[in-house]
Formats: sequence, structure tokens, C-alpha cells
Amino acid sequence: MVPAIAVLVVMALFGTACEQLHDDNRAAPIFGAENGQLPGGRLVNVNGCTVYWEAAVSLKLMMQAAADDGVKLTPTSCYRDLAGQISARNYWCGLSQCHMAAVPGSSNHGWGKAVDFRNGSLPMTYDSEAFKWLTAYGWHYGWFHPKAMRQGGPVPEPWHWEWIGDGGRMFHGKYFGFGNALPLQGSPLGSLDVVAPRAGGALVQGWTFDPDQQDPIDVHVYVNGQGVGAWRAGSPRPDVGAAFPAYASRPHGFSLRLPLANGPNEVCVYGIEAHGTGTSTLLGCRSVFADNGFPLSGSPIGALDAVRPVQGGARVLGWAIDPDRSEPIDVHVYVNGQGVGGWKAGAPRGDVARAFPAYAAHPHGYDLPLALAPGRHTVCVYAINAAGTGSHTLLGCRAVTVDPPASIFTEPEPVAPDAPDSTTTPTTVPTSTTTATTTPTTATTTTTQAEPTTGGTPGGSGD
Ligand SMILES: [Zn+2]
Repeated sequence: MVPAIAVLVVMALFGTACEQLHDDNRAAPIFGAENGQLPGGRLVNVNGCTVYWEAAVSLKLMMQAAADDGVKLTPTSCYRDLAGQISARNYWCGLSQCHMAAVPGSSNHGWGKAVDFRNGSLPMTYDSEAFKWLTAYGWHYGWFHPKAMRQGGPVPEPWHWEWIGDGGRMFHGKYFGFGNALPLQGSPLGSLDVVAPRAGGALVQGWTFDPDQQDPIDVHVYVNGQGVGAWRAGSPRPDVGAAFPAYASRPHGFSLRLPLANGPNEVCVYGIEAHGTGTSTLLGCRSVFADNGFPLSGSPIGALDAVRPVQGGARVLGWAIDPDRSEPIDVHVYVNGQGVGGWKAGAPRGDVARAFPAYAAHPHGYDLPLALAPGRHTVCVYAINAAGTGSHTLLGCRAVTVDPPASIFTEPEPVAPDAPDSTTTPTTVPTSTTTATTTPTTATTTTTQAEPTTGGTPGGSGD
């Protein structure tokens, strides 16, 4: 019984092999990719010949085996991007033989699965040693000469060979595929698998390694074209280890939390070339919309609620929020077109907190003591953009008329029952108020002097 099953398995494998070597076989397109526009991470350089990564090991083994037999296979054209296909087509059309080159975008060279060979330094012909060797042994490695290109066929190209191994299913682990411990060369391989929004940013996951070494390599991350950091791709990825056993002794995954500004962002990740030949590989770019939990984004919002005249100046009241952050931001105040200072809008405002619960972790009100000379003024308040996108916001402008200093001393009168007459005597006013002359430089002096009058001016009757 057991031998019979074994025979059936062998026949099944052999049947598959025969099917793959059918006369009408051609290299298959790559799912999810565009002909002539393969990402760098899907291409590998073998002895100067760039091919689809799955075809790389079999190509290298085949060229080595031919060399061992004294036959030199010299690749002359391998992966061909769109521009290369257009120029090849133009070349042949210039010779009135358009049919000798594929319509751009349809060439098997555009999948990285076709290689044109010379016979050493000589052109390949149907009589070449190299052609005879390939015909005899190429199929061991999954390389195939399409029927249409044979002698007498419609496109007689002895030099053009295609890889139909499709990852080594024909002779798994024996002749091609990555199971044979043959190190590759060249630029990092890898993939950007996930860029998913998370609170405050995005989760970024993938894998990469440099085929020239076992040790993990770095990934560099760019957000909207700006480099934001480097991370070591050294997290376990059992699936990658299974697919690339020659590199499975070390982990090659990456998984990182990337802080992002609220709104749309483009995240790009590079696998950084570490050793041997090759250059860094762009593993991919993805767009992600970051949601920081704030409902808004952009320039500050807020209000200038009031500019209320007080002794020696005015109180300026309002609130301001930068939608891109929850911390308090600054407001800048202008009087008659002149900047007079900046303050943090960090005073409690219950009504604002209730209206904008996403920002209620911090207070956003302002209540500013502004020193002003007697007379009429225009006061303007700007909210200063602090984070993310946007610019400063003019919250409003108000006119205010500040009374002359004498008014300071008339206010306390009603709440000062046993205040001596002298307090309200006009004659004492000029001497005490001259120190508080309301120029901008004495602003703080004026306000600190004004404050006690609201609380304890009634002199000896303090609480
Ligand atoms: Zn070709």
C-alpha cells in the first residue's frame, strides 16, 4: 500500500512538471502589479541581470550550472520597465520588424520573468552551444523557450527565455525557490504591509532584509516627504522566515506606532541597504488619515467676548483653542495697531469646556488685565496657531474708552461706610495717581494697584 501511494505522489508531481513545460507555456503576470512598473522590492539583481525575485535563485543556479559545463550564458536584457519596452519596440519598428518586440506594457520582460542571453560574447543562434545547453537543461530550473520563438516560428528569437517556475513548485526546494540556502545579492527585499490609523497616529508594519546578510536591517520612515526616524526591522515574522529559510535565523519584521498630525498623511518606508551590493529599497507608500480624537483641525477658533473698561485700562475676555492640540495656546493683543503682549489662554471657561468636550482636558479662557491711557482705544486679539495646519486667527477687535484716573476713587465709595473723607477728597487724588500714570510700561503697576481697590480699599474695616 505504502509504495503505491508514493508512486502516485511522484506521478502527480511529474504530471505538474509536464503541465508547466507545455508548449504553450508563457511566464505568468504578477497579481497586484503592473507590467513594467514592478516595485523595487520585487526585483533582484543576479550577476548584473535584474529579474523578479522569485526567479532570481533559479537564474543564478542555471548560469552557474552552464558555466560548470563550459557554457557561458550572458544576459543582455532582463527586467524591462515601460520606458525600456518603448525603446525596444522603437528599435525593432525602426528595422520594420515591429513584431520582434512586444507592445509596450505586455512584454514578459516587464514582469521580470524573461531574459535574453548571448552565447558568451557572441549572438545567440539556434546552433549556439548556449542554446543547445538551455534546451537540454533550462527546464530543470524553470526556464523555458516559448513555442512561438522557436526556429521557423512567427517570432524567431533563440535568445529569449522565460521563467515559469512560479516559486519553485515544480521541484520544490531542489532546483529553485529559496529553500536551497543560496544567498541572494542586491538591494533589500520587503514589503510595507500595514499602515492603519491608531489614536494619535498610525500603526506601520511590514518586513525587510538585505539579501547579503542575515542580520536585521533598518527601515527609514518618511511622513509627507520628511524623514521622521529609523527603526530596526528585527521583530519576529514567522511567515517571512518560512518564505525565506536562508534568512530565518534572525527576525525581519517591523511594527511601529507612528505619531501623526491630525488629518491626511502619506507614509513611506525604505529598507536600508546594509551590506554588499544594492541600494536602499522603497518598500511602499500609503495614505492614512490620522485622527487624534479632536473633531477639528486647522487654525485656532475662539472669541473676543468683551473689552471692559476698568481703572487704568481694560479687562479683555474671551477664549481660544487650537483644534490640533488640547493644551492652552497663546493670544496676542494689539492696542491701536501696536502689539502690547502675549498671554496664555489658560483660564477656566466652563461653557467652552462643555461646548468642546474633546478639548476640555485643559482650560482655554483668557481674562487679561490691560493697561491703557485714558481715552478711546481699539483692542484686537489674535489666537496664535500652535500645532498642525492653519494660521493665526483674529478673534476680534473692540473699541473701549478708558476714563481719567479720578474715576478710580469714586468707585470704592459706596462700600466704604467708615472710610474717612480724605479717601474721596479730590485733592489727594493727583499725588497717588501720578505714580500710576497709564503708560504701557507701567501697565503691571497700574493693574496691581487697581486690584486691591476692588477688595479691601475700605481701609480700616478689612475682614
Ligand atoms: Zn526577450
